Amino acid sequence: MRQVAFYGKGGIGKSTTQQNTAAALASMGNKIMVVGCDPKADCTRLLLGGTRQPSVLDTLRDIGPSSVQLDTVLVKGYGGVKCVESGGPEPGVGCGGRGVITAIQTLETLGAYKEDLDYVFYDVLGDVVCGGFAMPIREGYAREIYIVCSGEYMALFAANNIAKGIRKFGERGYARLGGLICNSRMVENEREMVSEFAKRINTKMIHFVPRSKDVQRAEINRKTVIDYDPTLPQADEYRKLANEINVNEDFTIPTPIGQDELEDLMRDYGIVD
Ligand code: ADP
Ligand code: MG
Repeated sequence: MRQVAFYGKGGIGKSTTQQNTAAALASMGNKIMVVGCDPKADCTRLLLGGTRQPSVLDTLRDIGPSSVQLDTVLVKGYGGVKCVESGGPEPGVGCGGRGVITAIQTLETLGAYKEDLDYVFYDVLGDVVCGGFAMPIREGYAREIYIVCSGEYMALFAANNIAKGIRKFGERGYARLGGLICNSRMVENEREMVSEFAKRINTKMIHFVPRSKDVQRAEINRKTVIDYDPTLPQADEYRKLANEINVNEDFTIPTPIGQDELEDLMRDYGIVD
């Protein structure tokens, strides 16, 4: 069972990319569970066709730990992908990361981590691996990390910070970086720049996902692109990404760079803002 987490700046495309990857892997015959770790509980929406299952934390609060059943919080979506949302604390109250671990522990107790699972994906909120949202790494759940980024400054700044977090926990734990997923924002020289940034932080760009209106078309139909129309070129991109992840054997402890080096790199690739 491979336990994989996607990190990256808010709005960069983690949930979209992860659900499409999960759908692609499922269509290749893999057994998958997706654990959404965002208090917005929107990480599995495209796999579930827009229906909403109760989140683990809401269920714990509403009916208490002893009454929670696995099939209340775990619902099967496209391709048999098992979908869970951890949910979150009331805004401004309590630590979201702590809640995520409570949710994961509840899933373990309920027997969600079945032997036959090929992948568990965690869709983790957060620009920076703050204490709370580093929990899936710190507690040894997420072993394999992919950072979703683009060629925009804030996305690379966040990616570099996440690399710092992985490095910190990687030195004494199991978490390793499997690569960067460039989710294109159509920035100039984006592919080259993100590849170079990846090299500098001791990893690789595992795939370049083009920006495509078909992502939104699928989204308004509450579907992944894979489900909406598997013949679209964008569906092919997600299958390629899924395949790259499937065959990936190259996991590293990243070497984050300084802010000056990051700014120089962006200047070298002709990015002005
Ligand atoms: P995150 O989970 O990182 O906050 P989302 O996955 O919710 O981000 O994506 C934010 C928005 O970006 C979504 O509305 C989604 O449709 C859009 N998006 C993501 N990836 C692409 C892409 N490759 N092409 C076009 N739109 C995309
Ligand atoms: Mg998200």
